[in-house]
Amino acid sequence: MNQESVIIQCKNCRTKNRVPKQRIKDDPVCGKCRTPLPEMTFYSSPVMVSDSTFHQDVLSYPGPVLLDCWAPWCGPCKMMGPILDQVAREYAGRVKVAKINVDQNPMISSRYNILSIPTLLFFKNGQLVNTVPGAIQKPEIDRLMAGMV
Ligand SMILES: [Zn+2]
Repeated sequence: MNQESVIIQCKNCRTKNRVPKQRIKDDPVCGKCRTPLPEMTFYSSPVMVSDSTFHQDVLSYPGPVLLDCWAPWCGPCKMMGPILDQVAREYAGRVKVAKINVDQNPMISSRYNILSIPTLLFFKNGQLVNTVPGAIQKPEIDRLMAGMV
């Protein structure tokens, strides 16, 4: 009975619901009023971000965000895909994992001086706290996350 869970507050009745991490993907509802729990508080898969949604999705998010700068033609980026899916599931409720296609969104790559992809950007409360160029493995991401959450 040692499964990890996250606390999600219901927008409707303010009840704090404890949701086991394994159930986050099942669109959990509030235990009291059955309202679907807000998605803003947790993401169990990477969120696609663009130049126009960047401010809202990344800078305004009230918690840590891991942003993967990638492009469809990039082999190492493809390798990172399943790793980031796993990170998003594991850190759901603690870290938001986001991805931005740098070909379609040149503003972000020039703003953060992205010279190669993949590059991982770590944000906390709207501030860039770390830039990690190159494909990395899951244990390395865990280490980087440890300083953030
Ligand atoms: Zn409720």
